[in-house]
Amino acid sequence: LLQLYAPLNFLGFVYREIKHSLADMEKMFTLLGQNAEIKDSADALPLQAQRANVRFENVDFGYENNRQILHGVSFEVPAGHTVAVVGSSGAGKSTLSRLLYRFYDVSSGSISINGHDLRALTQGSLRQHIGIVPQDTVLFNDTIYYNIAYGQPDASREEVIDAARSAHIYDFIMSLPDGFDTMVGERGLKLSGGEKQRVAIARTILKNPPILIFDEATSALDSKTERSIQAELKEISANRTTLVIAHRLSTIADADEILVMEAGRVVERGHHRALLAANGVYARLWSMQQHEAEHAPGDKPVDAI
Ligand code: ADP
Ligand code: MG
Repeated sequence: LLQLYAPLNFLGFVYREIKHSLADMEKMFTLLGQNAEIKDSADALPLQAQRANVRFENVDFGYENNRQILHGVSFEVPAGHTVAVVGSSGAGKSTLSRLLYRFYDVSSGSISINGHDLRALTQGSLRQHIGIVPQDTVLFNDTIYYNIAYGQPDASREEVIDAARSAHIYDFIMSLPDGFDTMVGERGLKLSGGEKQRVAIARTILKNPPILIFDEATSALDSKTERSIQAELKEISANRTTLVIAHRLSTIADADEILVMEAGRVVERGHHRALLAANGVYARLWSMQQHEAEHAPGDKPVDAI
C-alpha cells in the first residue's frame, strides 16, 4: 500500500502545483483580457518606435454583436503628450485601453500608432510598447522580485532594484524579513492596494515603454497614498505618450487634453480651464467632486469602479 501511496502523494503534489500555476495563468488571461480570438495577420510587422503617436479614428466597438459600447470615438495623443479620459462608470473608458492594447479589435474605424493600424502589427511588438498600470494589479504567487521583473527576463538585479526605488516601494521591500525574496500573492504576503499599485509601477518603469495607460484606481487607496502614487505616475509619464483614465479630476487638471465620455461617446473635450468655462458635464463633475472633497475630506471618487 505504501508503494502505491507515495506516487499518489507525489501526484497530488504535482496536481496542486499545476492547479496553482493554472490559477496564475487564468488570472493572467483575465488580466490580459481573453484575447485568444485576436490573431496576427500573415503579413503583420513588428512595431519599432521610440516615440509613439496614438490615434483613434471614428472607433465603434461592442463586446457582443447586439450591444454597441463605443460610438465614433476619435482622439489623438501626440508623442509625449497626456490625454485624460473622464466620465461615469460604464461610460467606456477602460474599453479604450483594452482596444489600444488590442485585447479586442474595433468593429469599425481604426486605431493606429505612428500611422500603423494596430491590425497590421504583431501583438507581441505592440504590447512591448505599452505599459499598463491597471485598476487592480494581479500579483503572481511568487516572490516580489519575480512580480516586478515579470515580463523582462533580461533585467539585471540592479535594474529591478532601481525600478523598485523609482516606484517608492524599495524601503517597504527591504523592511520585509525576506526582502525581494518575500513570497507575495494569495499564498504569500498580501499587499495593500497601494503596495500592489507600486509593484505595477515598478514593473512599468522596468519595461520602459513609449506608451503608458493608467487606469487610476483611487477607490482602494487612502488619499495620502493616492497623492504619492499620483506623483509617481506623473514622474514616469513625462515625455511618454500617456492615456490616463481618471477618477478624481483634480489629478488630471494639467493634461494636454481631457475627453469627457458618456455612454460610449465623447461628449466634451478640451483643457481643464476651457471645460470649466463651457459649464457642461465636466464642470458639473468638477463642482460635485469639489463639494465632496469639502464634506468628506479625502474620499469618494465619482467613478469608484
Ligand atoms: P468604464 O471603464 O468607463 O467604467 P468600461 O469600458 O469598463 O467602462 O465598460 C463600458 C461598458 O462595456 C459597460 O456597459 C460594461 O458593462 C461593458 N463591458 C465591459 N467589459 C465587458 C465585457 N468583457 N463583455 C461585455 N460587456 C462588457
Ligand atoms: Mg473602468
